[in-house]
Amino acid sequence: MHGKLAGWNDTITALATPQGIGAIGVIRVSGTAAIDIVNELFPSKDLTAQPSHTLHVGFLKSGEVLLDEVVVALFKAPKSFTGENVVEISCHGSHYIQEQVLAQLVKQGARIAKPGEFTQRAFINGKMDLTQAEAVADIIASNTEASKRNALQNIRGGFSHTLKQLRDQLISFSALIELELDFSQEDVTFADRPQLFRLLDEALVQVNKLLQSFKLGNVIKNGVQVAIIGKPNAGKSTLLNTLLNEERAIVSDIAGTTRDTIEEVLNINGVLFRLIDTAGIREHTSDVIETIGVEKSMAKMREADIVLYLYDITQTTAAELQAMEAQFAAEHLQYLLVANKADQLPNTYSPAGNGKLVTISAKNEQGIEDLKQQLFKLAVSENLQTDQTLVTNARHVAALQEVYTALQDIRDALDNNIPGDLLAIDIRRCLHFLGEITGEVTNEDQLDYIFSKFCIGK
Ligand code: GDP
Repeated sequence: MHGKLAGWNDTITALATPQGIGAIGVIRVSGTAAIDIVNELFPSKDLTAQPSHTLHVGFLKSGEVLLDEVVVALFKAPKSFTGENVVEISCHGSHYIQEQVLAQLVKQGARIAKPGEFTQRAFINGKMDLTQAEAVADIIASNTEASKRNALQNIRGGFSHTLKQLRDQLISFSALIELELDFSQEDVTFADRPQLFRLLDEALVQVNKLLQSFKLGNVIKNGVQVAIIGKPNAGKSTLLNTLLNEERAIVSDIAGTTRDTIEEVLNINGVLFRLIDTAGIREHTSDVIETIGVEKSMAKMREADIVLYLYDITQTTAAELQAMEAQFAAEHLQYLLVANKADQLPNTYSPAGNGKLVTISAKNEQGIEDLKQQLFKLAVSENLQTDQTLVTNARHVAALQEVYTALQDIRDALDNNIPGDLLAIDIRRCLHFLGEITGEVTNEDQLDYIFSKFCIGK
């Protein structure tokens, strides 16, 4: 089915852990000759005679040259990540050692793997479908609890399971239609029409739910862009500092996170919120509000998923707010009105009413938690179920849209009593696009593209 890919029988190798110094580095070798190749460098014992899923400590040597003391893990086909013979060599985490080991493996006949090639082989050997393979890339890139949870669910086949249900529904649908076709000479209608409609409507609802989940899925995977705007002296930089100071206290212990990213990013309930254009706020250079209506500033706001409009509660009239709201609505912007300096007026704190208004004191750090939770609610729909399947991949969305259109065409055809053989064409089209998502139907260019986005060693 996979053309030239199916013919691959060379053995590949790559460093599976990050480049750089660490306690250990893991080098992966996968392919028919994986065990033989490593065995050539491992004089302590005959690896080819060892059972699968065993660990072996010993020295790697090239002739008389000692390379490293290592632990070798053996996984024999088909019970391995790629479905091929796999050897994982844990060596010391020195760049020099790893390069030497890789060079010797290549000398023995292995080839350096292309990005994503291990996962690609796992896919080709039926170890996982395409959505699971893509989830491998997502989980490596995941940086919050929510994105990790979603990727893990997809690795375990959460999304594939939903698609399979859909496929089963369509297949039973098409079985009913075929039955009718078989007897078309006799001019009988076998397929129970109300049942057909019911099946279709269920499928349409399900696909629509998946399509809708993309917005949320994307939020979980990539974060939410938030723009804080407001007149000079509204308290934008004070609010920014309040939000980020709190965050710094939380995240500064995490090794490897750079100050730059910390300064721009808030983690609210496991979802990342990116405060865009914060530099401008700090330097008091761009007073967006004074230039509202000017295309440039509107474009900036349109980049944001949520606009946070901060105003001084002691200086702002209801009319002004209404004008702002009208403007946001006209631009179809999601926004939150944030009344600041509530400490200046007694008794102005109120629980966030319609979800669009929050009252805070940026300076006294009051109402900040409420503000964060309102942001979260705006970004992540309130009726999110934790076990809901989320679509996070643009490729899947494109295919699902085709599935949806095909389903609608089938429905129209049924409505108009179109003959069964024409219906069958639409059904096949629908199944085709479903198959594209999971990789049952695919082409090599598409596969190459998907796997090229992986890092080497995966
Ligand atoms: P920006 O121009 O919108 O960035 O506003 P700043 O953050 O620089 O704040 C302008 C002034 O308002 C500063 O003197 C702040 O101390 C003050 N300010 C900011 N937030 C509050 C607040 O919640 N209460 C009070 N009383 N003053 C505040």
